[in-house]
Amino acid sequence: HATKKTMADHLRKYESLFTLTPQRMRMIVEAFKETLELGLAKPEQTVPMIPTFVFGWPSGQETGDILAVDLGGTNLRVCLVTLQGEGKFEITQTKYRLTEEQKQEDGQKLFDFCAECLKTFVDTNLSDETNGLSLKPGEKLPLGFTFSYPCTQERIDHGELIRWTKGFGASNTEGQDVAAMFRKSLAKYDLPIELTAIINDTTGTLIASHYVNPRTKIAVIFGTGCNAAYMERVQAIPKIKNLGIDDDAEMGINCEWGAFDSLEHEHLPRTKYDMTVDETSNKPGEQAFEKLISGRYLGEILRLVICELIDEGVLFLGQNTYKLEAPYVFDTAFLSLMESDPTDELLMIIGIFSHFFAVETTLAERQFFRALAKLIGRRAARLSACGIAAIVSKMGYLEEGCSVGADGSLYNKYPGFADRVHEGLVDVFGEKGRNIVTHHAEDGSGVGSAIIAAMTKLRK
Ligand code: ADP
Repeated sequence: HATKKTMADHLRKYESLFTLTPQRMRMIVEAFKETLELGLAKPEQTVPMIPTFVFGWPSGQETGDILAVDLGGTNLRVCLVTLQGEGKFEITQTKYRLTEEQKQEDGQKLFDFCAECLKTFVDTNLSDETNGLSLKPGEKLPLGFTFSYPCTQERIDHGELIRWTKGFGASNTEGQDVAAMFRKSLAKYDLPIELTAIINDTTGTLIASHYVNPRTKIAVIFGTGCNAAYMERVQAIPKIKNLGIDDDAEMGINCEWGAFDSLEHEHLPRTKYDMTVDETSNKPGEQAFEKLISGRYLGEILRLVICELIDEGVLFLGQNTYKLEAPYVFDTAFLSLMESDPTDELLMIIGIFSHFFAVETTLAERQFFRALAKLIGRRAARLSACGIAAIVSKMGYLEEGCSVGADGSLYNKYPGFADRVHEGLVDVFGEKGRNIVTHHAEDGSGVGSAIIAAMTKLRK
């Protein structure tokens, strides 16, 4: 009769499912490059390569007081940014929690909530007593709105939502100009504020990183979602030729690369767990690349593997596992905690499973969970490296090298994530891959939004 498989035996199966060889990575990079080109050439492609109407890099000399609102996946953030020039800035900010209902109910209500928070912020932070930032009658503070969902733009202060991502689904918003909706909400609260720019967090991160570190050429967000932006020559964007913009100008491109391979499903190594994540998501068939990488999904992928092993009778026999069986209960933050557990006994992992899921674990099981987290986290980092490599290769940045501004909880908090991205770049490019270095971009979505609003004011 067959001998019982050990946890180490099980692990081998998952190792082969979740490991990406350098050769496979290079194939992904090639396909990715073609996809980027296609998105620049024609409208309405899977990876839309959205022109941002942010023209060129900031000089570093932009100055002034600017408000920024950042509607991220999890929080709503309101910031007052004081740009001091010479790559320096100060920022005051408050975070407001978004409820699941707010993400799903009427869109106008969502923007009303944003305006309400902005009012609270302005009342608390901009009254005469706090910092003397009083406005003359009729004067308005510029506002940069960081709205990190794919929008088509015709100019910087307009943005039509293509589709919600990252679990949002507010009605009456897709296909609408979110700038107009937000202005309507701002008017309801009678705020002395002028919405100057709508930007994506990746574009903001790109511009803010460059303001501080001019070697920056690319920005990537690793948060609830995953996306990238870079600066492209206008002559290399055939789909906007008709706008008559100077060929020598440069424009930021919001790649919306999370959608890579969503239609074809032929380039990315998707496991059956990835397919389940996709099928049970609120947007099946979309954001194929993002679903293998971003914070919203990594925990869920790991949970699905655990559930499979529960079903097969390998894990937690005789224990009540209902708490583990609900979708999305296993936060990606748990993967970070499991990977960074410093104890031989893996006490942190004992804690996670007993405290949050009411199950007891053996040491062999805990070692397995940790190894599994490592496989899933490593795959995410290496796939991101493929996307970065595609932009680097397309733009010819390898020889000279460049900096990649990165932000988001996954990048900032997942132990070893950046190192794994760098390793991946070396696997794709060889030793030269070391010329490409990621760095944490300090608060790109708030500061970048403000810098862009300031750049826009200067252009007018
Ligand atoms: P957002 O993208 O919503 O603006 P974040 O960058 O904070 O915000 O990303 C939130 C995502 O990061 C969530 O999906 C969450 O599961 C994940 N996350 C939060 N903390 C951690 C952590 N310590 N390690 C890894 N992922 C984390």
